[in-house]
Amino acid sequence: MKIYDVAFLGMGASALATAKLKYKGTSVSLIGIDKNYHSKRNNFFAFWLTDWMKDFDSLAQKKWFCWNFYLTNNHIKHETKDLPYCTIRYQDWKNYCLKGLENLSIKEFNVQSITNLKKYYEIKLENGEEIFAKKIYDSRTPKLENEKVKQHFFGYLIETKQMINGNSVTLMDFRVEQKMGLHFMYCLPIDENRMLVESTVFSSEIQEDGWYQKQILEYIETKLNLSEYKIVDEEKGALPMYDIENKSSENYIHIGSRGGATKISTGYAFSFFLKNIMLNFENINKAHHSYFDKWMDKVFVNYLKNNSGTEKVFINMAYSLNGNEFASFMMGVADFPTKLKVIMSMPKIKFIKSALSTIRN
Ligand SMILES: Cc1cc2nc3c(=O)[nH]c(=O)nc-3n(C[C@H](O)[C@H](O)[C@H](O)COP(=O)(O)OP(=O)(O)OC[C@H]3O[C@@H](n4cnc5c(N)ncnc54)[C@H](O)[C@@H]3O)c2cc1C
Repeated sequence: MKIYDVAFLGMGASALATAKLKYKGTSVSLIGIDKNYHSKRNNFFAFWLTDWMKDFDSLAQKKWFCWNFYLTNNHIKHETKDLPYCTIRYQDWKNYCLKGLENLSIKEFNVQSITNLKKYYEIKLENGEEIFAKKIYDSRTPKLENEKVKQHFFGYLIETKQMINGNSVTLMDFRVEQKMGLHFMYCLPIDENRMLVESTVFSSEIQEDGWYQKQILEYIETKLNLSEYKIVDEEKGALPMYDIENKSSENYIHIGSRGGATKISTGYAFSFFLKNIMLNFENINKAHHSYFDKWMDKVFVNYLKNNSGTEKVFINMAYSLNGNEFASFMMGVADFPTKLKVIMSMPKIKFIKSALSTIRN
């Protein structure tokens, strides 16, 4: 009976990162189990180029030094020299992580059960196979809770012969229908002829794909003024806007979204799990977000849940910060004066109410 040193349950972005950055070049035997290992998934992972992300600089498909926010009659533009917005595609990430990982075997099956046999774990797969491993990294997608607020989105990657301004990203454009919750468009121009256009909603109820698709097509026509284009790829997702409790123990470690990497107010997770691996190499199980940041995020999400017309809050926040401050805030490395600016940009009474209700709950 073979007992692996390490098993990865789920072999997506965070497991690939952990395998590569912790175990490449070692003699540790690894097995990765993922029900969709060979999927064609190729979503974009965006992040601001903080210090710990600089090692992955060469993988970034593109960098933007400018990003925008739009509300009816309001446009805010941020620029930076130091913290550009970058993106890496999933398949590039996968190829990078797998390169040189000779000690990794793969099983493409659903994990059905895990039993702790004290000295090692028994992992049962859907085909009845049993795998044994001394240590587990579990990144299987956490189950989303129906009644809680989520960030859900659908994006089309479009290609057009008409010229696109490839130099600046639209982080949030609120000039779209707001009936289903806080809704905005996110536009990532990959080059002068290709752009990812994503419809994102903050609410508890996830819509049918057709709803987001209709919003995107309308937006492309009315706001981007593109008439001739073709859809070349798509991505979609739903991310928790609430705390995922990390139930790790010494040899059973939850990583990625399941390990609480997602910043609940924004959905960014990629750079946060990498930060843990890069900066806390021996203890990648360390909390991804500071206690204060988590509390601020909870107050913020609570405010979004209980109020309407909340898009103005994002605009006020963007208005109160410059590009570097905004990027550092989004990546969880803002200094106290920047955090204070964010707090001061929020509607005071409603935020105090929201803060009080997070204490009560
Ligand atoms: C479309 C999309 C775009 C995103 N864009 C960004 C972004 O721009 N920036 C950012 O910071 N974050 C982004 N995120 C959020 C986050 O970074 C990603 O979700 C990231 O993939 C999380 O990594 P992970 O390893 O936790 O999960 P995943 O990469 O989703 O990996 C989990 C793996 O577990 C497998 N699995 C699940 N259940 C089982 C089972 N029972 N048995 C076997 N295998 C199983 C799945 O097939 C999957 O491969 C995005 C998320 C999505 C979905």
